[in-house]
Amino acid sequence: MTGFLLQFRIIPNKVHIPMDTHLTELQRDNLQEALSKAGQKLTTQREIVYSVLLTKRDHPSVDEVYQRARESMPGLSLATVYNCLETFVSCGLVRQVNHERESTRYCPNLLPHAHFRDEATGRVHDIELPPEILQTLKSLLPSGFQTDSIEISFHGRTQTNPKTN
Ligand SMILES: [Zn+2]
Repeated sequence: MTGFLLQFRIIPNKVHIPMDTHLTELQRDNLQEALSKAGQKLTTQREIVYSVLLTKRDHPSVDEVYQRARESMPGLSLATVYNCLETFVSCGLVRQVNHERESTRYCPNLLPHAHFRDEATGRVHDIELPPEILQTLKSLLPSGFQTDSIEISFHGRTQTNPKTN
């Protein structure tokens, strides 16, 4: 009888389990394309870090990305996460978001948008910027001034301060 029961023992899985990076095919293709344009390769680490940014779009800091990425890849180092983020920024895949006295945060939203920082919670929200607003802003520049990017930050409070998330 014991022998029969032994058949149900779970055999330890020695096979390397592929990491679930939660990237869709399209997101993975976009990542690969942006990296290869910059002469960089797609690595598992980069996939995981990019996936972390896309999964929870709350403008995490390097430390927050690091904590989340380690859930998929415990051996990942902070330096690697930092390097991945730097690479994404240089490829134009991710924007840095800087607010006074705060560590840099990272945003994967590539559509024109401003940021709203809730001073009560520290949360950063994306605020869509319609093209006509951007045109108006650009028209304010004196002739001879060319702009590559416009950064707009709102500071204030949201009506309801969600404690969750
Ligand atoms: Zn953003």
